[in-house]
Amino acid sequence: MSSNSTISKKTITILGATGSIGRSTIDVISGSPDLFDVHAVTAHKNAVGLAEAAKKLGARKAVIADNAQKEALKALLEGTSIIVEAGREAVISVAAEKVDLVVAAIMGFAGLKPIIAALEKGTDIAIANKEPLVAAGKMIMTMAKDKGAKILPIDSEHNAIFQVFEEENRAQIERLILTASGGPFLRWSKEDILNATPKQAIAHPTWSMGAKISVDSATLMNKALEIIEAAHLFSMPADKIDVVIHPQSTIHSLISYKDGSMLSQMGASDMRTPIALALGWPKRLDKGGDILDITSLTQGNGLTFEKPDTNKFPSITYAYKCIELGQGACIALNAANEVAVARFLNHEIVFGDIMRCVAYSINELYPELAASGAYDKNNLKTVEEIEKLDTIVRQATNKFIDTSCKAPDRAA
Ligand code: NAD
Ligand code: MG
Repeated sequence: MSSNSTISKKTITILGATGSIGRSTIDVISGSPDLFDVHAVTAHKNAVGLAEAAKKLGARKAVIADNAQKEALKALLEGTSIIVEAGREAVISVAAEKVDLVVAAIMGFAGLKPIIAALEKGTDIAIANKEPLVAAGKMIMTMAKDKGAKILPIDSEHNAIFQVFEEENRAQIERLILTASGGPFLRWSKEDILNATPKQAIAHPTWSMGAKISVDSATLMNKALEIIEAAHLFSMPADKIDVVIHPQSTIHSLISYKDGSMLSQMGASDMRTPIALALGWPKRLDKGGDILDITSLTQGNGLTFEKPDTNKFPSITYAYKCIELGQGACIALNAANEVAVARFLNHEIVFGDIMRCVAYSINELYPELAASGAYDKNNLKTVEEIEKLDTIVRQATNKFIDTSCKAPDRAA
């Protein structure tokens, strides 16, 4: 008999069902169809992908954020009983409809409001969407605690730590060690990195992911966001969180305990494994990601670990700085990065400009905003206040790009 038979069925909503994490989630659910009853799937603009996902999963609802895609989605789902809704507010409302688990797989800060809406109803969240944790981690974790909702990390590093985190031995934790692949430019010279193209930046050596997170991996901003994410998820001070470059992406992160034990979780570079863990928790599913053949690890360089080069990749330094400066700085870091990455992917700036935008936002803009009283840095209590600061930083970063960055085709 399948061990899955001991797991009780969960109702589930997938936010961002057409993305990289969304599609892997669908794959995991399809591997254990008796265990999940899909309430809703959502997407931004991709009506075709959303209609396919809704049909494949037998979802009750398909919700598309872009109103302009509503009729297309309706036409694609004609003849089915799947309810179609559209608009940003509809995505937030459907996240608030009570299910056992919401999978948060929207890309970027845009995922914050739906997460908050789900938490308000006390719904457990399997969270891949790290940007809301960076911008509003304290609010998310406090709300989850108050409402009795669980936050189950999908991000592979945090999922690994989650699997080896001994809450009863919290005081004996020496440090959390996040592994990083180093991205596609690990061995490139600093000069070559500055002019890398979007195509080069999204060609990740070990993981297949959405465009934004792939660029974040190339700048190592992904790891910077993950440091802040880990601080919130595990309630750990920044000085207990380290990063180590591990190009093979096999050990997904480690905890070093004071007695000398280092506990880690390892596996193939396959997001279906952490997704399966989050979906099945506290049980394990029969099917997740590919099973790693450990004898294959002796091929090539085996498993290697090295310190990150913060001169070549300064993002990690910004993470620690922003944690020290507080939530306002973390919001600024994330917003400037999201704007810069989008404009880089749109071929409007060169790769090196991404870090220039981040540097501008933390070293110039943030101190100005903090001093001007444009927002109260100790009082970012509501989503509206957080959104307001996010918007100010986005506008200022766009202006910085328009005035201080050269389009790639005009770059020297
Ligand atoms: P993706 O770009 O492939 O997919 C994003 C999904 O969100 C799509 O379904 C899209 O339609 C939806 N979406 C985008 N903008 C939206 C908006 N404004 N409103 C509503 N929906 C919107 O991204 P991804 O790689 O799947 O990543 C999703 C999240 O998971 C990100 O926060 C990323 O950092 C995190 N994450 C991804 C991976 C990975 O392997 N891809 C690993 C760890 C963490
Ligand atoms: Mg990760």
